[in-house]
This record gives sequence, structure tokens and C-alpha cells, in this order.
Amino acid sequence: MSPKEAKSRYRQIMAEIAKVGLCLPGSLVERTSRCGSAGCHCHTDPTKRHGPYPSWTRSVGGKTVTRTLGPDQVERYKPFFDNSRRLKELVQELEALSVQVVSEAEGWGTPREGSHNVGDTPDNVSSTTVQGH
Ligand SMILES: [Zn+2]
Repeated sequence: MSPKEAKSRYRQIMAEIAKVGLCLPGSLVERTSRCGSAGCHCHTDPTKRHGPYPSWTRSVGGKTVTRTLGPDQVERYKPFFDNSRRLKELVQELEALSVQVVSEAEGWGTPREGSHNVGDTPDNVSSTTVQGH
């Protein structure tokens, strides 16, 4: 990739990022719940829990915070979760581009499969973190 190509790709990514809009952390999930009345079947039968209700769960300071959303709220805020996902993709693209630019500038080359001394963290060792979606 020529520096000129890299620059135009960079501009594209940044233009996309600028368009993303509000981003909500965490994920939109369907949750079932138990109610407050002790005699209700939801307390004894796990298949008879109430719901499912759409909920927004996210991690705040190591704790999971859940908020149940009404249908109108789901409609209003669902795009913000999609935005968040889009932003993450764009950041990954930006990082990949940056790695390529820096590697080419420094003549580091592309890590080849089968070689054992290409970097500090080989791709096949615990580099796949599971993301909360
Ligand atoms: Zn109940």
C-alpha cells in the first residue's frame, strides 16, 4: 500500500467514524425475570418466569447493570447499539491500517505464517478475547 493509498483509506475510516453517532456500551438482550409476589409460579418453575423483556445490560465498574426497556425505548435506542458495533469495527480497521503503515515505514514486513520470531504476541496464543455481546 502506497502512502497515498494509506492516507485516502485513513480519511475514509475517519469520515465513517465521524458519522457514527451516539454509542451505547453493553448489549441489548432478552431477559426473563421473577416478580415480587411469593406465590407466583415464576418462583418455582424456571420455564414460567416472566418475559422475555428486552433489556440493556452493561458492565459498570465490574458489576453488571441491567435496565429493562419498553418497546418504544428499544426502537429508539437499538441504533445506538448498532453504532457501537460499527465504531468498534472502524477502530479495528484503523488499527490494522496503522499497523500496516508503521510496518511499511519501518520495513518490518508482514508476519509470515510458520515463523516463530515475528512479534511479542503470536496470533495463535490467547489473542482471541470474547467480547460481550
Ligand atoms: Zn411472577
